[in-house]
Amino acid sequence: MIPLWSTWAEPRFFGPTFLRIGAINELYVWDEVSVAPFTVEVWKDGASKPLLAARGFSVNRPLPVLGAAKKPLLWAAALVCPEVLEAPGPVKVRFLTSKGELLHETPSQLMPRNFPVEEIPLSPEMTRLRAKPDPRKDREAVAIWAVYQRFEPQFHWPGGRFLLPVSPIFPSSAHFGDVRHYQYADGTSSRDYHRGTDFAVPVGTPVQAPAPGTVVLVSDRMLTGITVVLEHAPGVYSVFFHLSKANVKVGQKVKAAERLALSGATGLATGPHLHWEVRSNGVPVDPLDLVTDGLLDTNSVSAVISSIERVIH
Ligand SMILES: [Zn+2]
Repeated sequence: MIPLWSTWAEPRFFGPTFLRIGAINELYVWDEVSVAPFTVEVWKDGASKPLLAARGFSVNRPLPVLGAAKKPLLWAAALVCPEVLEAPGPVKVRFLTSKGELLHETPSQLMPRNFPVEEIPLSPEMTRLRAKPDPRKDREAVAIWAVYQRFEPQFHWPGGRFLLPVSPIFPSSAHFGDVRHYQYADGTSSRDYHRGTDFAVPVGTPVQAPAPGTVVLVSDRMLTGITVVLEHAPGVYSVFFHLSKANVKVGQKVKAAERLALSGATGLATGPHLHWEVRSNGVPVDPLDLVTDGLLDTNSVSAVISSIERVIH
């Protein structure tokens, strides 16, 4: 129940005017009382189904008393992540109840973003590994996809900036979103994009947790070699490929900077390096954004919400 003395009548919503492609875009709902479950959909004009949908989750961390609120505000977030190959243009962001009723709609834009194109010739062995159908490869793809789809709708981590998984003395050797034109040994080719950030590290370099999380997968996979997946937030996962050794077990909770593994060159790797990928709602997003901007940082969220509250009152 909302107390009678409050001028606060209903939840409020924030969806950004511009949505970044290949990135986590944070949307918020806040209220004096707990925020009911909701989902967010992004629609292009004239489309028959949404471009993407994301579930909201409550954040267990009240904000200060802001604007007309009489007490600390409770809030929830949804993370919206347009995929790298998505075309830019105008969209509508819709907040919906769990029954699909419209709560709030706001216009937005998918911002254009260009990614460089790289030509990658593959040896016959690499071609075989990459192109040949293999039941093990299929099983592993299904298993990791099931992990990316898991969504625990509570967020207890204090939020904030991610650390780099390796010492900053190592340069990144391939960037997120690079479009890759693979040329196979048999003369055929295919197009894909780089779903993570690579660091040029020698075999045996310590790999640390970029943020707190729970280890949800440790596996020796055909294409990605020794692989560790860490869950940070609802639907948000850090993924590490081509490791030489994992130092953690499934179910283990780790703190930021805790050692996860040693880097290597296992699986389909052209040489020793660390591949760090971040998935949100299954979509690959630029990991370095989380190092510079952070994820659900209380100060940033308070700043956005208090600026809206100032405009309203
Ligand atoms: Zn990579």
